[in-house]
Amino acid sequence: MIKTLNRKYFLALTFIVAGIIIFPCFVANADNQPIIPDAFVSSERLSQGDTLLIVVKNEPNQISGNLGLVPLIFFRDETGKDWIAITGITLSKTPGMYNLFINVPGKSVFNKNIIILKKDFPITQLLVTQKLVQIGYTAKNVVNNVINNENKILLKVLNVITPISYINKSFIYPVTEIKDVGAFGNIRKSNTYEIRHLGVDLKAPVNTLVYAANDGKVVLVESMWDYGNTVIVDHGLGVYSLYLHLGYFNVKEGQIVKQGDLIGLSGNTGYSITPHLHFSISMRGASLDPLKFIEATQADW
Ligand SMILES: [Zn+2]
Repeated sequence: MIKTLNRKYFLALTFIVAGIIIFPCFVANADNQPIIPDAFVSSERLSQGDTLLIVVKNEPNQISGNLGLVPLIFFRDETGKDWIAITGITLSKTPGMYNLFINVPGKSVFNKNIIILKKDFPITQLLVTQKLVQIGYTAKNVVNNVINNENKILLKVLNVITPISYINKSFIYPVTEIKDVGAFGNIRKSNTYEIRHLGVDLKAPVNTLVYAANDGKVVLVESMWDYGNTVIVDHGLGVYSLYLHLGYFNVKEGQIVKQGDLIGLSGNTGYSITPHLHFSISMRGASLDPLKFIEATQADW
C-alpha cells in the first residue's frame, strides 16, 4: 500500500514538474499554433574557423540563446528592431552536431541542428629570405619571438571582453581590392619550427589605404619585431580586428573609429617577405577566418 501510494505521488509529481518545464515551450496564438520566432541562421554546416550569424527579427525584448554550450550574445542592429549574434567556430572545436537554441520571451524556443566539420589546413614552408636573414631574422627567432613575446602582448588585449557592442552592422573589408595571398589557418614550418597563420594576407602594395572594418575603439598601436606596425580595434563583446605590417599609423590608442576610417597605410614592416596587409579577426580570444567572418556578417537576411 505504501509502495503504491509512493508510486502514485511520484507519477503525479513527475507530471506536475514536466508540465512546469514543458509548458513555457508551447506558447500558442489564438489558433493554438505555437508562435515561432522569426530567426535567420547564415549556415547550418560550418567548418573550424568559420563564423555563424544569427538574426532574430522584430523582437522588443532582450533574447538569449546558445550554440551547444557556448552562450550567444545578442546586440541590436542599426534599425533597432532586430537582434544579432555572431559566434565563431574555433580551430579546436570538436566536429559534430550542435544544437542552436534561442529563447524569445513569449514565443516557443527556436531550435536548429548545426553541423560542424573538421577542416584540414595545409602545411607550407616558413620562408626566411636572404634579405630578412641579413637583418637578423631566422626561422628559430621568428617563431620564438612570436610565441614568447608578441602573442603574449596580443592576447593580453584580445582576452579582454568589453561588455558593450560598438557595432550594429556588417563588417567591411579593410582594403578595396581583396586578393588572398596567404590563407588563414595554414601551418608554416621550417624544420622543427612552426607557426600557425591566424589571419589572412591580403595583396596590398606599399601605401595601400587600410580602413577600419567596423566601428570600435583602437586598443593597440605598436611596432613589433615580427608583426611589424600593428593596430588592434576593439569592436566590443570580445570581437577584435587586427592590421599588421603597416607602413604608417593613422590612429592612436584610445581613439574611437567609425567603419571605413583610415587606420593607416600598408607596408612591409616586421617579419614580412613582401608588402601586404595581414588582417585577423579574434573573437573571445580565438582566431577566426577573417574573410569567412566578413562574409557571414554580410549575409543577406
Ligand atoms: Zn600573415
